[in-house]
Amino acid sequence: MNINQLLQIINKHVPLNTAELWDNVGLLIGDESNKVNGVLTALGCTDDVVEEALTNNCNTIICHHPLIFKGVKSITQQDGYGSIIRKLIQNDINLIALHTNLDVYPKGVNAMLANKIGLQNTRILNPEITTYYKVQVFIPKTNLEAFKNNLSEAGLAQEGDYEYCFFEAPGQGQFKPVENANPHIGKIGSIEYVEEYKLEFMIEANQKALAQRLVTQHHPYETPVFDFIKMEKEADFGLGMIGELDTAISAQSLVKHIKAQLNMPSIRFTGDKSSIIKTVAVIGGFGIGFEYAAAEKGADLFITGDIKHHDALDAKIAGVNLLDINHYSEYVMKDGLCELLKVWLNDEKIDFTINASQLNTDPFEYI
Ligand code: ZN
Ligand code: ZN
Repeated sequence: MNINQLLQIINKHVPLNTAELWDNVGLLIGDESNKVNGVLTALGCTDDVVEEALTNNCNTIICHHPLIFKGVKSITQQDGYGSIIRKLIQNDINLIALHTNLDVYPKGVNAMLANKIGLQNTRILNPEITTYYKVQVFIPKTNLEAFKNNLSEAGLAQEGDYEYCFFEAPGQGQFKPVENANPHIGKIGSIEYVEEYKLEFMIEANQKALAQRLVTQHHPYETPVFDFIKMEKEADFGLGMIGELDTAISAQSLVKHIKAQLNMPSIRFTGDKSSIIKTVAVIGGFGIGFEYAAAEKGADLFITGDIKHHDALDAKIAGVNLLDINHYSEYVMKDGLCELLKVWLNDEKIDFTINASQLNTDPFEYI
């Protein structure tokens, strides 16, 4: 398997286009034609992680945090990130980042954290809203089957695991060609009645230009009649997870439990330690800004990392319980992604190992 094939499989499950626009995901360093001889999963790509990949004979590192993120001005041995990039290139190691696309994936980072915490009945905290189009085309019956085939072969009219998702209904179309018309059916100046079908199907927002081109190309009429109706729906992915504990316990006991589960030397709580917690929401990394929406959805506790003093104070005054598990708690994705990759690659004949980095790359020391 080469990097390109690996990326295609990854893209089926955690589509790169579900990442935030400001993000930087996919193959950041490497060559799509390189054969994969081993994968190492890591939270971030540090110099030690590159050494670990070399020791384990893995030529592919898949990280959550993109190594190339802000504007790179130089790649020199003397500059910290530059020396890591140079080491990757010198050793022909491929670096893939799965960042916010792994955050919003229903089995991604937040599901992994929810699992560690022991949440049941988990569902997405903030489902994303996606734009799509309903397309309706009016077309003579005789052209209908070929038209549908052309659209379907180009990848249109797909929903989930289903292809060829059309709805059609018969009706009577009518028109009068005038002046310079060059009609496919009918004569200039006389009203023509045609047995037509109204064909409906859904497309994703990024398929609009393709759909418009194909409809125009394959419709028999000089002036095809079609509409693109813009719609929105809740996606089956989004940021954060919310779920319930098996049994309600005090915030104080839960914090101790989570600290042990995540193997964190220190975590910080704000709110009422004696409050009884049953429903919990979690966003790994930096998720502040969603705490009140989580409370509205019934969360007795909102868990994230990187909470600042004033956010904590605001929440405390508002009576919202917050728990800062440190951004580094996202390290759970190392093992979690290994498991996912093994499942995703199960059908493929893979001849390489998939390992999770054993290194602790938390920049903080807890003293
Ligand atoms: Zn994350
Ligand atoms: Zn993060």
